[in-house]
Amino acid sequence: MLWGRCSSKYIAKFMTVAHFKSKGLKRSSPRPAKALCSDCGLCDTYYIHYVKEACAFLNQQVAELEQQAHGQSRDLDSEDDWYFGVHQQMLTARKKDPIPGAQWTGIVSTIGIEMLNRGLVEGVVCVQNTPEDRFQPMPVIARTPEDILAARVNKPTLSPNLSILEQIEQSGLKRLLVIGVGCQIQALRSVQDKLGLEKLYVLGTPCVDNVPRDGLQKFLETTSKSPETVVSYEFMQDFRVHFKHEDGSEEQVPFFGLKTDKLKNIFAPSCMSCFDYVNSLADLVVGYMGSPYGWQWVVVRNETGQEMLDLVMDQLKTQPVMSEGDRKSAVQNSIPAYDKGVTLPMWAAKLMGVVIDRIGPRGLEYARFSIDSHFTRNYLYVKRNYPEKLEGHVPAYAQKIVEQYTLPD
Ligand code: FAD
Ligand code: SF4
Repeated sequence: MLWGRCSSKYIAKFMTVAHFKSKGLKRSSPRPAKALCSDCGLCDTYYIHYVKEACAFLNQQVAELEQQAHGQSRDLDSEDDWYFGVHQQMLTARKKDPIPGAQWTGIVSTIGIEMLNRGLVEGVVCVQNTPEDRFQPMPVIARTPEDILAARVNKPTLSPNLSILEQIEQSGLKRLLVIGVGCQIQALRSVQDKLGLEKLYVLGTPCVDNVPRDGLQKFLETTSKSPETVVSYEFMQDFRVHFKHEDGSEEQVPFFGLKTDKLKNIFAPSCMSCFDYVNSLADLVVGYMGSPYGWQWVVVRNETGQEMLDLVMDQLKTQPVMSEGDRKSAVQNSIPAYDKGVTLPMWAAKLMGVVIDRIGPRGLEYARFSIDSHFTRNYLYVKRNYPEKLEGHVPAYAQKIVEQYTLPD
């Protein structure tokens, strides 16, 4: 018995020391996941030691990690679970007093600030931008509300958020909030027990169609009338891309008018093979796509997520989630159109945008529309480019979603 205890203590110590022997890769070095790497940042650190298990693109393990993080994995008999993951509740919310310059109304930044101000955490992992480039991500451990505010708004580019993991252990932080997207959070969940933390909180956003910095430039130049003045953009629930410009003006471009033939190759291969749009492993997720236009969508996955949301409830207007319309034929029709790179003339795209906005899916049905469209596209991408990975890489819930549609070969 004593030997058993000693040996497990020894093994645990050995495992903690073992990762110090690894060294993070240079930024210019090829990554273990090769072209599929989403640059989550893990491999920049000595936690690369765990990459074979931790990398979302080398070892898909959503169900196992859901069990670890939430005490249960998705119920495959529940359609809501296929789509939105394990959850205790979903709601629609917006800040009564929105944060200027936030991506939406700033619920994410507000939660980070409250957690820091109330002493629940000592630091918040989030991503600011470099001084030279508003879209070049710069991950930080924020220690003040000002640091968190400086990270508001999306950097719509692959961001190595986990590159700060070594700093966490070295700085002796014990209570931490991490804000991030699905692939970052999957790798984080795999190594969280090695970080020496007493408590980890995870606040996620959904994420889809992310791009490397040069891909973003191509998107802006192909789609916006004034690419150099864009400060943020969003693919909105009204089927238009909304660009915000430096002077406060807004530009709208209908989805159906996007030059899909030119844009097809800009998305990162990691995002073309991702099936964790809704950030399944975060404690709390804040996005927009399950809520009506102008509102944010909040998914509470577990007790920790509820604790985080409770901190800001008095600052929010809320309403129940809603769902209207039927997405299925729109998704089925979009599959061959996207595959062939069909682009409509702008007048037809605008007309189609107006019609779909009036009669199209809303609320949770819009979220299902977006998830179905991306999962069918990504399934075809993996099948065609990485056939040997298809079976292990596509989670069971995504398989069920894709099976609802007829796909080309
Ligand atoms: P803010 O208060 O402005 O805070 C934004 C937070 O996002 C900051 O804390 C920052 O650290 C973090 N962040 C910014 N860029 C990145 C990045 N590249 N990687 C990791 N973290 C980052 N929601 C949907 O419902 N559907 C979508 O399709 C969707 N796509 C998204 C794609 C990307 C690349 C990102 C980053 C987010 C996406 N979201 C999506 C989430 C949504 O756009 C908002 O970020 C979310 O609703 C929070 O808004 P907010 O005003 O509360 O955030
Ligand atoms: Fe490493 Fe992350 Fe890239 Fe995987 S996605 S190879 S864990 S940096």
